Amino acid sequence: FHQTSRSLTEMPDYPTSHAKIANPVNTTNFIDNVAVESKATQWIDLHDPATNELVTRVPQSTPDELKAAVDSAAKAFPAWKATSLLHRQQIMFKLVSLIRRDWDRLAASITLEQGKTLSDAKGDVLRGLQVAETACGITTQLTGEVLEVSKDMETRSYKEPLGVVAAICPFNFPAMIPLWCLPLATVTGNCLVMKPSERDPGAAMIIAELAKEAGLPPGVLNIVHGSVDTVNFILDEPRIKAISFVGSDKAGEYIYTRGSANGKRVQANLGAKNHAIVIPDANKNATINAIVGAAFGAAGQRCMALSTLVLVGKSREWLPEIVERAKALKVNGGFEPDADLGPVISPQSLSRIEGLVQSGVDEGATLLLDGRGFRPEKYPNGNFIAPTILSNVTTEMKCYQEEIFGPVLVCLETETLEDAIDLVNRNRYGNGVAIFTNSGSTAARFQRDIEAGQVGINVPIPVPLPMFSFTGNKASIAGGGGNYFYGKAGLNFYTQQKTVTSLWRSEDAECTKAQTVMPT
Ligand code: NAD
Repeated sequence: FHQTSRSLTEMPDYPTSHAKIANPVNTTNFIDNVAVESKATQWIDLHDPATNELVTRVPQSTPDELKAAVDSAAKAFPAWKATSLLHRQQIMFKLVSLIRRDWDRLAASITLEQGKTLSDAKGDVLRGLQVAETACGITTQLTGEVLEVSKDMETRSYKEPLGVVAAICPFNFPAMIPLWCLPLATVTGNCLVMKPSERDPGAAMIIAELAKEAGLPPGVLNIVHGSVDTVNFILDEPRIKAISFVGSDKAGEYIYTRGSANGKRVQANLGAKNHAIVIPDANKNATINAIVGAAFGAAGQRCMALSTLVLVGKSREWLPEIVERAKALKVNGGFEPDADLGPVISPQSLSRIEGLVQSGVDEGATLLLDGRGFRPEKYPNGNFIAPTILSNVTTEMKCYQEEIFGPVLVCLETETLEDAIDLVNRNRYGNGVAIFTNSGSTAARFQRDIEAGQVGINVPIPVPLPMFSFTGNKASIAGGGGNYFYGKAGLNFYTQQKTVTSLWRSEDAECTKAQTVMPT
């Protein structure tokens, strides 16, 4: 279904259930605006996480195909850079409308390949779409500066594209992360080589098709596939000037180090362990809903999942209600209308998550809710785990120290706000954090003293909309941060500044001796 386009009057030509696909179609590369079959010798089987039935085979793109993608992007760059900003803006307007048109189709691809519920998959698309929408305002965002620095002399600054840039994407947001990169990279005049996650490239392939339909010329967006071999090619290819990466610590640190050593600009968002601090003066019902939704939504496979609860003082008494509300969530195949959360991405991921839960039990935590072994009636073969809650967790435990990336909430307790802030600040990650309180002074103190990039006050998942940037901190972002995704920082990432200083003397020089010193 990656390669077909549909008219609005037809029946959907995309999947609407987890039914076994009779003849799975191989995923293609996308080079020069053409979906081309790969000549790969290695293929990665992609399974529906709800059933573990084969959906497609993803190629490990061959060295020739990888080179062809960069050749195509390098060839397209001069002409693309020379197009007017207004022309690129028009393509973005079109792309936005096409993503809206095919929103359901994109979401269906995500539910099938990634597993999240259809309604959540629509949110995945929307969060990426919003970046494309802000890219439509590029004509006011890319203005430079000008200053008359002395008589007859002025300096101007321009933001110019870098050339060929690359994006390496994770599995958990198959539409949002490609759309964190594609609109801003291309509207600023770059050509992009994208490697979607080999675990769910379908949404990126649909986006490529839509970008072509919107008018993106051949070579401005190319898509290749695979895992480490493709990443290594990107890291070492001299014509690639910058790399956008989102994913795990291990891959991200490697990509940041090797990419930077090769002289590339690298932005790399990594793992997380996001804490929610609950003060007993918070609105109880709203707080419990917020925590349960943010801990278990998307089966906990969000980098901003609220996976760690810090109950301050008497708020520890809320635990039984948190457990009850988590228990009430429906775990099911993502296409089922009643599903609150779907499966996790793979059997390997499931066993890693279950192992981390067991490690908590072995280290002395209390298993308040055990979702291990849960199987929805219709989906006995899927990678399911129902909401799981561990309490009496301490900071030394493995289940606290590692990112679990599953529907597991670990709960710790402190007596005071100060202790809670200290606990959060001692954690090596610094992606997101939230506090729930009705006290302005508590919130103000928290906001000032907490060390995290994205802070929520009665907001469980405080991801900024794309007029701001996604601002991780500490170990959640490689290289000490700064190279943030989207917003002003995102535009800076995809551009380099050029300053031009010009002198147009209104009268000829009277002095006849050349100056050899710097003017003072
Ligand atoms: P992952 O690191 O396994 O994969 C991400 C990309 O890196 C994929 O394209 C993959 O092919 C490639 N890759 C994987 N291992 C590699 C290796 N050893 N060498 C080179 N390349 C490699 O990550 P994932 O499991 O797809 O995504 C989940 C992770 O992403 C979580 O840790 C989550 O917190 C993180 N994440 C972070 C953010 C953020 O903005 N901070 C957003 C989403 C996801």
